[in-house]
Amino acid sequence: MVETTEVKAFGNEAADAQLEQLNIKRRKTTPHDVEIDILFCGVCHSDLHTARSEWGPTMYPCVPGHEIVGKVKSVGGHVSKFKVGDMVGVGCIVDSCRECEYCKDDLEQYCEPGMTGTYNAPDTHLKDSPTFGGYSESIVVDENYVLRIPENLDLAAAAPLLCAGITTYSPLHHWQVGPGKKVGVVGIGGLGHMAIKIAKAMGAHVVAFTTSESKFAEAKRLGADEVVLSKDAEQMAAFKGKLHFMLDAVSAEHDVNAYLRLLRVDGSLALVGAPEHPLPVSAFSLIVGRKSFAGSAIGGIKETQEMLDFCGKHNIVADIEMIDMQNINEAYERLLKGDVKYRFVIDMASLKGQN
Ligand code: NAP
Ligand code: ZN
Ligand code: ZN
Repeated sequence: MVETTEVKAFGNEAADAQLEQLNIKRRKTTPHDVEIDILFCGVCHSDLHTARSEWGPTMYPCVPGHEIVGKVKSVGGHVSKFKVGDMVGVGCIVDSCRECEYCKDDLEQYCEPGMTGTYNAPDTHLKDSPTFGGYSESIVVDENYVLRIPENLDLAAAAPLLCAGITTYSPLHHWQVGPGKKVGVVGIGGLGHMAIKIAKAMGAHVVAFTTSESKFAEAKRLGADEVVLSKDAEQMAAFKGKLHFMLDAVSAEHDVNAYLRLLRVDGSLALVGAPEHPLPVSAFSLIVGRKSFAGSAIGGIKETQEMLDFCGKHNIVADIEMIDMQNINEAYERLLKGDVKYRFVIDMASLKGQN
């Protein structure tokens, strides 16, 4: 029998239900665990997709949140990497098999039997419960899945690095973005705005593609060298065959063929956005120019630490709008309208203050 304690959280009980305060069980720290007092948690569009069962049936209650930062409250007897008081983070992975070729290769996100997601995954410790994410007071995580936050970064603004940061850093790194490369970023939301900052810091020439006129002016401040209003056919045509790599971080249906046309011969477009419905790709979008249409999921634990250190070195954090836990439902509605610049982060003091 695993010992548990009750903590306050925010979640929903059904796809069409609003998120509200509820109590959840957390296991008491076992020898390899770190107990974290959650200070801030970013709001990823995946939280919304999951809470509303857009990616298939979700296990309810659903407590989302996988951009977690906080302070170590206690550690198990065998923990060697962290001590009480350390500022730490937890991203999208809280466990994996540790034995398959991908886990051994630091690619836990592609673990063969499947990684344990921070929320909405079967909990390997509490057998009758799904995992619960960061919209909560505290979390208990095996030390091997806990990250160290560089001291020079603002803690709240660093929270989105745990998903938006690594999900963009990993493909940018994998497709060797750097000096001499022209990179397109499509969809300037939480992920997209991080992709602009990271690709720029990697030395690439960055072109931002947005549907929002208001972001058109701002994308350059974020680091883009050029900005394209994707609804404008003339602006799009000017980039035909010009880009080495494109990262598509759009959360809803859109025409990917329009972007594949902008790739150079042998160019690749990687999807990180995960819309609810399939995206049709025309064969000729790929055949003409030997192009690749690819995808990428978050990043492994080692690479996440590498990304955090890279962001520490380059002073990169997210542009955030802080919200109270109680305003999460309104935040989701704004996310659907693309109305956030550029990431909501929940101040968890707002939950702790509630009875
Ligand atoms: P977000 O902050 O809501 O940003 C999405 C952006 O997509 C919007 O800001 C908007 O950018 C654009 N967009 C939205 N609706 C659109 C539409 N109908 N047509 C064209 N463009 C539209 O979301 P996010 O948190 O960055 O997440 C983006 C996607 O990545 C989500 O689907 C999420 O689940 C997924 N994701 C995947 C991974 C992974 O491992 N692959 C990890 C995290 C998240 P503009 O205003 O600039 O057009
Ligand atoms: Zn996410
Ligand atoms: Zn594995």
